[in-house]
Amino acid sequence: MPKDSDFLPGTVWLVGAGPGDPELLTRKAERLIGEASVVFYDALVGEGVLELARRGARMVHVGKRSGRHSKDQTTIDQLIVAAALAGERVVRLKGGDPSIFGRATEELDACRAAGVPVRICPGVTAASAAAAGIGASLTLRGFARKLTFVTAHARAGEELDLDWDKLADPEATLAVYMGKAAAGEVSRRLVGAGLAGDTPVALVENASLASERVMLTRLDLLGLAAKTALGDGPALLLIGQAVRQAQPASLAANYQTAVSHT
Ligand code: SAH
Repeated sequence: MPKDSDFLPGTVWLVGAGPGDPELLTRKAERLIGEASVVFYDALVGEGVLELARRGARMVHVGKRSGRHSKDQTTIDQLIVAAALAGERVVRLKGGDPSIFGRATEELDACRAAGVPVRICPGVTAASAAAAGIGASLTLRGFARKLTFVTAHARAGEELDLDWDKLADPEATLAVYMGKAAAGEVSRRLVGAGLAGDTPVALVENASLASERVMLTRLDLLGLAAKTALGDGPALLLIGQAVRQAQPASLAANYQTAVSHT
């Protein structure tokens, strides 16, 4: 089978761009990005990843960061479909893995409704990059048998609608996406639901990038830690006993212990 037979004109690929470091792209993602005639990309896609597009490819920023929506989802869906119907090879580049908190469903549905062939190329999700950043495993035999990915994104002025009793599981690792603004609420609710206040927590900002910052703290201090330690990059919260293994490689350069965990 010729190498590009899975990327005919008129096709859409939802491609996982990984957490930022271009070396964390899959080889398939790299090839698809290089073959695309148009690339629609999110705000969180790393610079180094965008540079892999071929010269002359149309690069369209459709990024969304909380509070700063540059294009709404319906517009993005329409742009992608229109490009495919015009005979382009379309890459829709999404941070991390497209199937994790990436609005992939809307785009898959829009393509399918228009009869446009659409496929997914997976990517390294932020939780994996954050675990690598702290040098720990997300699971820990006997202590963290379960891994939960949750988004703590709430609509402005609304409370988080999560099942806190289920999430407060001492034998799970909780990976909280979009949790920076809600870190204080996450902490209060989990402690309120019975999770120990001294449960270890890692905050990892800009995981996999040169600007990566790691902070280790404990659940009851998480709100304060998030407020004081994080910049304006994307950040992931890892909560649970597995975080006890943390040994960030970046100790000398940018490891912060505003609050040490015991
Ligand atoms: N599909 C993406 C997640 C999109 S939601 C994935 O699989 O990773 C966006 C959230 O992902 C951010 O708010 C942040 O919580 C997390 N995130 C994305 N890139 C990150 C990075 N490099 N470091 C830390 N967190 C990141």
